[in-house]
Amino acid sequence: MRFKYSSKSSIGPDAPSVVGFAWLIRALDAGRDVSSLALITHEGRCGRCGRLLTVPASVACGIGPECAGKMGFDLSGFAEHADVAAVLDPMTYCFAGSARFTVTSRKTGTRFTYHVRRAKGEDESRPWFARVLTGSDNENDYEFFGTVFPK
Ligand SMILES: [Zn+2]
Repeated sequence: MRFKYSSKSSIGPDAPSVVGFAWLIRALDAGRDVSSLALITHEGRCGRCGRLLTVPASVACGIGPECAGKMGFDLSGFAEHADVAAVLDPMTYCFAGSARFTVTSRKTGTRFTYHVRRAKGEDESRPWFARVLTGSDNENDYEFFGTVFPK
């Protein structure tokens, strides 16, 4: 995966939210375990379709039962997970299709909430559009800042 900042964004390329996102993509793409550096939590909605999560195993992993089925994802192992909002597999969750998640630095406590939505279609080469929460309405106050391309 490759992140490309958009110069059309009102958020600067050096903004901590952009730099942090670029770091996350590089780390995940390299297959690194980021859990000791950052806590990634979902916002209570399915990472693929954005619907509200209600089933405990889905709340635990961030993917609803229907979407888990479509993704070939086994929910059964997540039922007993204690830290309910933590995303267990960031690579799966963050790029599931319509994921809202918060990344919190374990070192500084700095946090940003992102919405990463994939372009419509079936083509595997289609990109994801990355937006960051900039206001108090965590459903709508997102600003576009860049695109993630599959390799
Ligand atoms: Zn879903």
